[in-house]
Amino acid sequence: MERSISDEAEAYVRSLLDDWLVPHPGECVACFLDRALERSSCDGDLRFAELYRDLAAPRATALLPRLRAAGGYCDCEVLSNAMQPAWHLWSTSRELDLDGRSIVLEAEPPEAMPPCTGVRRGSTQPCRNWHRMRRPTRW
Ligand SMILES: [Zn+2]
Ligand SMILES: [Zn+2]
Repeated sequence: MERSISDEAEAYVRSLLDDWLVPHPGECVACFLDRALERSSCDGDLRFAELYRDLAAPRATALLPRLRAAGGYCDCEVLSNAMQPAWHLWSTSRELDLDGRSIVLEAEPPEAMPPCTGVRRGSTQPCRNWHRMRRPTRW
């Protein structure tokens, strides 16, 4: 059977979806947003966070309000205001040696995030690669 152009287009779109628009099994919301925003720019809304909720954590109805409460009013703000790469992933760029004790003055965030360490299905927690910047009263 010959494949039509539209079949091919559909397969292409599906491969894109498989590749980045859909959370991988066990992938956390932060790693998903990071991956999605690498391929697609932020639209000024929480569409990827919403997509994550719909596909990976449909019962987490409080996810978007919680992200907003933490300063994440759009997908990229979630990764700059609400969650940050965990400290163990940062590299020190300026250090002060104080009586043999090194004090980190400046650190650089990682250029690329390591693979998601995984969360249980339905969870909206970030994995160990991230930490939350501000803690709303109830997460
Ligand atoms: Zn944004
Ligand atoms: Zn993760």
